Amino acid sequence: MDLSRAAAAALDDADPLAAFRARFTGVDDGLYLDGNSLGRLPVETPAAVARVVKQEWGRGLVGSWSSWVEQARRIGDLLADGVLGARPGEVLVSDTTSVDLYKLLVAGADARPGRDVLVCCADDFPTDRYIVAGVAASRGMTVREVDAHIDTGLDLDVLAAALDERVAVVVLSQVAYRSGALVDIAEVTALARDSGALVLWDLSHAAGAVPAELTTAGADLAVGCTYKYLNGGPGAPAFLYVRSELQEQLRQPIWGWFGARDQFAMGPSYDPADGVDRFGVGTPPVLAMAAVEVGARITAEAGIERLAAKGRALTELVVALADAWLTGYGVTVASPREAPRRGSHVSLAHPQAWQLTQALVDRGVVPDFRTPDRLRLGPAPLYTRFVDVWDAMDRLRTVLAEGAHTSYPTERARVT
Ligand SMILES: *Cc1c(COP(=O)(O)O)cnc(C)c1O
Repeated sequence: MDLSRAAAAALDDADPLAAFRARFTGVDDGLYLDGNSLGRLPVETPAAVARVVKQEWGRGLVGSWSSWVEQARRIGDLLADGVLGARPGEVLVSDTTSVDLYKLLVAGADARPGRDVLVCCADDFPTDRYIVAGVAASRGMTVREVDAHIDTGLDLDVLAAALDERVAVVVLSQVAYRSGALVDIAEVTALARDSGALVLWDLSHAAGAVPAELTTAGADLAVGCTYKYLNGGPGAPAFLYVRSELQEQLRQPIWGWFGARDQFAMGPSYDPADGVDRFGVGTPPVLAMAAVEVGARITAEAGIERLAAKGRALTELVVALADAWLTGYGVTVASPREAPRRGSHVSLAHPQAWQLTQALVDRGVVPDFRTPDRLRLGPAPLYTRFVDVWDAMDRLRTVLAEGAHTSYPTERARVT
């Protein structure tokens, strides 16, 4: 692999997604490698939100509800078709990832009566583990945490050994938040189905970065974030997916009026709506949804296969440069080395990763620090160039060569 900056620039010249960079704001102000945590602002979003504020709210007032009640399903269908590989009527935008996880976890556990174990991954994102623990505690269930390698991810033999007739639901992330390790949805779904368990996928670090192909994989349940690779903005509502054939069997635990049949009949008791609407709860965040719609549309337009291919190439460059330039400074690649086994981010391990993170921020590079000693680099394929990756890695090399990071605090400041 030619590791010159000119070779990186040649990859940009040949990039079929290069034009999408101009659809985002701030792309020339520094090297942003944290699109897997909070995606950039699309150029169209302020006007789209302003239109909802000024026209639909400002002029239309309550009359605009006719278009707002469609919004959660409309954006859900857009995500289903353009991002998730699901069918119309299987995806709904609602609440937060944490709340959607809770709703679908309880619904799934209720659908497997007599089973008293929930399985999750010991290394999964905190909110996922906490919600699994909370649901288990409230129902008298047991949590079986499967160990996953911090860098290479979950071993399916380890997962298989944890599955038996006591397991109701398995909660897993398609892409591990720290290492980027990718799990095969179809393989795990088949494994879990053999034991009779449902799998609830968290697609937060995957949606917009790698294909989920939920229909092909036969996936049962999923949730995910829209403010990461989908660029829906801070606090953007999440999405949930329930396979069509399961929808009528499942009841979610928060019986709100937005999940009820004939909502405006204001009936005496809760009767769940047909289809995916029954997984809604209350009034949707209409302004935030307008931003999600823009992000979802741009992602669908770019095409998830092309995004994933570019993500693999960008992370391949990170790995190659880390091997060539940084090994002598004690940096190691803390992600799967084979591109098809990763999402669109890579972690590098270094004992002073927190100091390196601070030094990079001061030099115009935004990475992310993750415990225990990981520098996480997420070059979002919609707007990150190969030369951006090259320049960021070059600055990291310079920081290490000069020892500039050693003058930064070693402890993360505690927020009190
Ligand atoms: C980002 C992320 C979340 C975020 O959940 P919120 O409810 O939006 O705070 C949840 N799970 C995973 C795996 C994530 O990466």
